[in-house]
Amino acid sequence: MERRDHLGALRRSRAAPRCPTLSRPSASRASVTCFVAVRGGGHGVGGHSVCDDGLVIDLSPMKAIEVDPRRRSARAGAGLLWGELDRETQAFGLATTGGVVTHTGIAGLTLGGGIGCLMRKHGATVDNLVSAELVTADGDVVTASADENHDLFWGIRGGGGNFGIVTSFEYRSHPVGPQVLAGPIFHSLDDAPDVLHFYRDFIAEAPDELTTVFNLRRAPSLPLVPSEVHGRPVVMIGVCYAGPIEKGEVVLRPLRTFGSPIVDGFRASWKPFSRSLEWRSAPSFASKRPPHRLFRVKEAPFCPRSHLANSCP
Ligand SMILES: Cc1cc2nc3c(=O)[nH]c(=O)nc-3n(C[C@H](O)[C@H](O)[C@H](O)COP(=O)(O)OP(=O)(O)OC[C@H]3O[C@@H](n4cnc5c(N)ncnc54)[C@H](O)[C@@H]3O)c2cc1C
Repeated sequence: MERRDHLGALRRSRAAPRCPTLSRPSASRASVTCFVAVRGGGHGVGGHSVCDDGLVIDLSPMKAIEVDPRRRSARAGAGLLWGELDRETQAFGLATTGGVVTHTGIAGLTLGGGIGCLMRKHGATVDNLVSAELVTADGDVVTASADENHDLFWGIRGGGGNFGIVTSFEYRSHPVGPQVLAGPIFHSLDDAPDVLHFYRDFIAEAPDELTTVFNLRRAPSLPLVPSEVHGRPVVMIGVCYAGPIEKGEVVLRPLRTFGSPIVDGFRASWKPFSRSLEWRSAPSFASKRPPHRLFRVKEAPFCPRSHLANSCP
């Protein structure tokens, strides 16, 4: 069985059973000794969800999802991607903090803690994890929650995938949208020191509804970015305001009017922010991506780490 990991390395596993549902283990359990890898969304860049000469347990067919709008909760199969979970919860005007890229798996992301567009208002993904169903190394099916197996629950909230195979997650979800104000704004990298100064003061006073991500990088070839800007070193501030649009307009006004942005991509709609970042792993972008070149921030008066931009691809 051949499968490529996220970085494109070809792995040859002995077997790759795909698991659409959880079958309860029978009384007689077989015993085998081999490497085992567990695959959720397959997005982990370390390639740990595949292995050579071992067994890959592929949970990607586990797409069952149940949303309870009254309890504001969602039970989600471990093979779901964030875009799929968002689509179902948004049908009820609900959302949980998830990744900024729609095709990241909910399993690996949740087990690693989970950061995303709603986190300043609603916490990390694991703050919204109510319970999980797992298969342990002994083959037992258990629930981990604040009331049941709470030490295991503690471990899976950020400790990664080695505590068992999670088959489903139950999340608390929150009223969001249906529209949010989101998108990226770009400045020339030459303006980075001024933009960083401004951003430091702006974000210190920003309300919890606003989550931002600040990047020094090359401009992606997104439709909202003019072609002459593609590949140019830029400051990108990605934004999601998870509150009323009119309030968001007021909160974001200083960010929009500061300096001379080369692109203002803020839009009032659900998930443009996540879509705006999907270039990262889109094969079409990967093939058009400019070759790695170094660029330099002219001066970095208050942020010693901005020298990291020197090695930015
Ligand atoms: C383009 C991109 C954008 C990202 N954006 C974000 C972001 O916004 N926020 C954020 O927090 N993270 C982000 N990440 C990191 C991402 O959360 C991790 O890579 C995560 O591990 C991906 O989960 P997955 O299920 O898709 O990965 P996989 O490669 O399938 O699995 C990753 C790890 O989790 C284990 N695992 C997977 N499923 C299970 C399971 N059901 N039970 C037990 N172990 C399991 C695997 O064995 C492996 O070790 C991003 C990564 C990429 C590549």
